[in-house]
Amino acid sequence: MKIKKITSQNRRDFHAIYECEHCGHTEEGSGYDDSNFHQNVIPKMKCSSCGKTADENYRAMTTKHPDGFQI
Ligand SMILES: [Zn+2]
Repeated sequence: MKIKKITSQNRRDFHAIYECEHCGHTEEGSGYDDSNFHQNVIPKMKCSSCGKTADENYRAMTTKHPDGFQI
């Protein structure tokens, strides 16, 4: 999955619409805005429609706030 659109964000917690690269399925979910989440967690999310995870072309978004930065 990848983030299609972040719908709201409060500090590092956000809600977003995730989109599947394979079938185009979208679903809403929550997330945590640090680089680990973007680079490791999101690409391992399984699409609830086709069951696939992100492919090698996945490009992580950058965080709004650098790691370790106190918000
Ligand atoms: Zn899918």
